[in-house]
Amino acid sequence: MSTFISLLRAHHDALMTASHAPVSPDMKRAIAAMESCQTEAAGWSQWYCRHCHHHDRLCMS
Ligand SMILES: [Zn+2]
Repeated sequence: MSTFISLLRAHHDALMTASHAPVSPDMKRAIAAMESCQTEAAGWSQWYCRHCHHHDRLCMS
């Protein structure tokens, strides 16, 4: 996971309530999209290997 997205998630509440730097609706949509990146909220895909029978579930970015 990127450091930038980790920081967004860690400081989400402070960012949303910072009165000196109001977050516009467009910025809120962009932040929500980045925060859900590579989580199950963004959807996921199931992968299966016929050779070793390994399967994995990968979150979408
Ligand atoms: Zn395999």
